[in-house]
This record gives sequence, structure tokens and C-alpha cells, in this order.
Amino acid sequence: MRTPLIAGNWKMNGSLELIDAVTEALAGAHLDSNVEVALIPPFTLLMRAGQALADSPVRLGAQTLNPNAPGAHTGETSAALLKECGVELVLTGHSERRTLYGEDDAAVLARVRAALEAGLTPLLCIGETLEEREDDRVEAVVLGQVDAVMGSLEPAQRERLVIAYEPVWAIGTGRTATPEQAQQVHAMIRARLAELSPSLAEGMRLLYGGSMKADNAAELLKQPDIDGGLIGGASLKPDDFIAICHAAG
Ligand code: PEP
Repeated sequence: MRTPLIAGNWKMNGSLELIDAVTEALAGAHLDSNVEVALIPPFTLLMRAGQALADSPVRLGAQTLNPNAPGAHTGETSAALLKECGVELVLTGHSERRTLYGEDDAAVLARVRAALEAGLTPLLCIGETLEEREDDRVEAVVLGQVDAVMGSLEPAQRERLVIAYEPVWAIGTGRTATPEQAQQVHAMIRARLAELSPSLAEGMRLLYGGSMKADNAAELLKQPDIDGGLIGGASLKPDDFIAICHAAG
């Protein structure tokens, strides 16, 4: 069985006050030990979060990394620096990185490789835009994004990823994919992974992201190929985030 993962992506939001409130709320939340939980706050909050979560099963993630070796990259943050804060996983290919910061498949692959080399878990985000969905290109886009990374990795590396299917039209819009729509794409992704290796497909966690909230999480998480959630807006509200964690148990 795949252990569900609920990961909260704070994007460029939050504060020291909120990280203290959320880590405290998680500590008192009696989280199901069969559900993995991760917080992914902005870089400036990582050290504080890492200290607060040091004795907690809640894992810490970063929103991106620079794939280069340490050196002359003003303003950037390497995997080694992230690890010092207690980071264990890192988002790669989030649609906001792809569209707002020009990260193409090659850039995403470089970040996945850098994460793997540093011993971090890459959480690879993929998903189609509304226009691509309306043009009937979901399969081509989503599987193209899977192939661009998975096709370039060694078999043992592939197993270390987590994939998040995030339809771009559902991110931050309040518009959620229906459980059936999400399940259909998740099944398609798993079938593609099975072409590489049946055991890879069986073990790979496929998260759904896109306006997952306390009131729709259970229905989405009930789907056979949805193994957790990548949560944006709702992860900034401790009660909502904890309710989603409970829904995954
Ligand atoms: C995200 O940013 O990964 C996300 C899913 O955001 P939201 O939950 O706000 O749609």
C-alpha cells in the first residue's frame, strides 16, 4: 500500500507567526501515523520550521532549488543549503515556476537530478492548462511532462520521486477537478509508469493538487489512484490543513 502524503505549499505567503502557529497545531493534532504530512513554506521560514519540526514526523519541503553547485549564484539556494534547514523534499516543475519563471522540462529535470543527488525527494508537479484541456491535449501534455523527467532517469532514481497532478486551471482558482476527472488522469499517469516498470507504477505516490480543501478532500482522496494532496491556499489555515490530513487517514 502507498502511504498517503499531504503537503502544504505556502507559496510566497506566511510569516514567522504563522509557521509557529501551524507547527504547534500539527504537534497537537493527533495525526494518523499512516499519513505522511509535509510543510513547504518560503525559504526564510525553513530554518524556524526545521527547528520546530525536529522531533516531529512532519516533513519539511522547499518550493524550489538551484541545481548548480555552490558558488556564484546571487540570490539562489542550493540543495546543500536547504538540507541544513532540515529540508527533505523539494517541489519541482510547479506550474507557477513553469509559467512565471520560464522553467521548461530541461530546467525541471536539472532540478530533479540535483535534488536526487543531494538525497532530497523531488515532488514533480505536472498538469495541463485550461486551453490544453479544451483542445483535448491533456494526455499529450501530462504524459509529455512525465516522460521528460522519468525517461531521463535511472530506474532506481525514478522510484524516489513523488508526482503531483495539478491541473493549472484548478490551482488557486477555487475550481477543483471532479474526483472522476482527477482519477482519470491519475490512472493514465500510472499506466504510463507501468510501461517503464509495473513495480514503479504500483509504488509511486500520485498526489492531486488544485483547490483541494477540507470539504472536498475526502472525495478526491477516496479515488484509487489519488495518494494524497498538494495543498496551496488551504494549507495556510491550520484547521483546514489538519482536516485534510485527517481526511487522508
Ligand atoms: C498549489 O499551489 O500547488 C495548489 C494546489 O494551490 P491551491 O490549493 O491554492 O489551488
